[in-house]
Amino acid sequence: MRSHYCGQLNESLVDQEVTLCGWVHRRRDHGGVIFLDMRDREGVAQVVVDPDTPDAFASADRARSEYVLRITGRIRMRPEGTQNANMPTGLIEVLATQVEVLNTAVTPPFQLDEHGKVGEDVRLKHRYIDLRRPEMIDRLRLRSRITHSVRAYLEDNGFLDIETPILTRATPEGARDYLVPSRTHSGEFFALPQSPQLFKQLLMVAGFDRYYQIAKCFRDEDLRADRQPEFTQIDIEASFVEENDVMGITEEMIRRLFTEVLDVSLPQFPRMTWHDAMRRYGSDKPDLRIPLEFVDVDDLMKDVDFKVFSGPANADDGRVAVLRVPGGAKLSRKEIDEYTSFVGIYGARGLAWIKVNDRSKGIEGLQSPIVKFMEGVIETLLDRAGAEDGDILFFGADRAKVVNEALGALRVKLGGDLDLYTRAWAPLWVVDFPMFERDDNGRLAALHHPFTAPACDPEALKQNPENALSRAYDMVLNGTELGGGSIRIHDQQMQRQVFEALGISDEEAREKFGFLLDGLAHGAPPHGGLAFGLDRLVMLMTGGRTIRDVIAFPKTQSAACLMTDAPGTVSNEQLKELHIRLRQKASDNTTA
Ligand code: ASP
Repeated sequence: MRSHYCGQLNESLVDQEVTLCGWVHRRRDHGGVIFLDMRDREGVAQVVVDPDTPDAFASADRARSEYVLRITGRIRMRPEGTQNANMPTGLIEVLATQVEVLNTAVTPPFQLDEHGKVGEDVRLKHRYIDLRRPEMIDRLRLRSRITHSVRAYLEDNGFLDIETPILTRATPEGARDYLVPSRTHSGEFFALPQSPQLFKQLLMVAGFDRYYQIAKCFRDEDLRADRQPEFTQIDIEASFVEENDVMGITEEMIRRLFTEVLDVSLPQFPRMTWHDAMRRYGSDKPDLRIPLEFVDVDDLMKDVDFKVFSGPANADDGRVAVLRVPGGAKLSRKEIDEYTSFVGIYGARGLAWIKVNDRSKGIEGLQSPIVKFMEGVIETLLDRAGAEDGDILFFGADRAKVVNEALGALRVKLGGDLDLYTRAWAPLWVVDFPMFERDDNGRLAALHHPFTAPACDPEALKQNPENALSRAYDMVLNGTELGGGSIRIHDQQMQRQVFEALGISDEEAREKFGFLLDGLAHGAPPHGGLAFGLDRLVMLMTGGRTIRDVIAFPKTQSAACLMTDAPGTVSNEQLKELHIRLRQKASDNTTA
């Protein structure tokens, strides 16, 4: 129906006849001449309709915002003084000869350039309107270029795109499953995959050697952070590989992606152990654009007459650390109070600080509610922290977990608030994760998932599971975990040992993952892989603020779709077929 996209028109087409199809972005009536800004996914072009063409004029007169039109006309230069150099099509206009209304449109719920005036709920409900905005189109276009680049790279490197089931059994990523009742198996349920983990391992057993998939994953978690119940992974697995192989292939993939799509050449990714990351940044996904680092001062605080510091300094699981913020002495009392409330979110009971006004004056040159407790150690402390005039030192003193989370979050917040970034992109690998962590009930839980290979032998794992490291690796970019993976266990004895450490009995292991264990017994090659969170990757690359900005039809924080109104109730017939009786009627609290 069209010869050109609106956004493709330019001076080189002057005097040519073109046919456009698109939406009325704006319509202006200039005393007898009608101007239509016509929009399609490639951009906006100005169309002029004058009364010399009465049919075209009548149609243009009828057109309103968001009507769908087909327009034929001739391209000409805009008259001097009306050109708009900021617009790609701003030097030319189309003098229409034919205007056809292909469809009308009801009044839109918001004007595209006034989307900020309505709440996100309105935009989500009418997502098809929101998606007409150039920013949204650009982000989804970039997403498509990203998946294209990734696919091309993986295909070039011998990876096969293989689909895995959506209706399946529970998978091991540790979140809550979305369940789907079976009609043909009364009382039984499918689970939607939290990841293709088990299937991709079985593809390695089958001998496919190199697999990838751009895979939908489902996790029924409380959506505290910026999460979606269904999200997309770039899922990768390969056989006869070790850590360096997987890290090398995927690092190259991301580097090539950034060059192709953003024209950015990323440096070689540094590697940091999990232990160092926690010690220096309080986080397993440190944002290395921010130059601030924690400095440990436990040894100095053991004997100070200030319980808030000496307590954690002497406790096994305690930590006292300092964060030096250059230039931070200019922070006001009010700002410091706000940072104190901020660290409170992470469980910190306060935020001690010292302003370094003039070091040459000794203790007199410091300003702080707590410095009086530290006379004997203050000089050593300042030296160790590298304190200079104009700095502020913030302290974290609590259980190590609280200090890491609170001071780690403060570090990231200060980086943004004070614009401390030293570069645009800071990728790294975090390696040497612990194999296990203690969950809230004090039990050992897998830090990644139970198929991650330990770095030690089964005997050492048995002797000292808490100290075991895993063969896992995470790729981190600008403080966001882009992807994570591991070398897997392919040896049954090791797998048994890991289940034992996790307190998973033989029966439970068989019941949950029997099919994988059987597969592993049939000649499993050494293998490993990794999965990237595509939504987050696209968000970082497009500068989106949330992953909702880079997903065409996202769900809300309460895991609902405002446009389709999903989830919804179903009829009694459907429930009956599924052998389900509800304990409570939907939208009603009485027991049925
Ligand atoms: N399946 C893992 C995940 O979803 C990634 C991996 O180990 O490859 O986090």
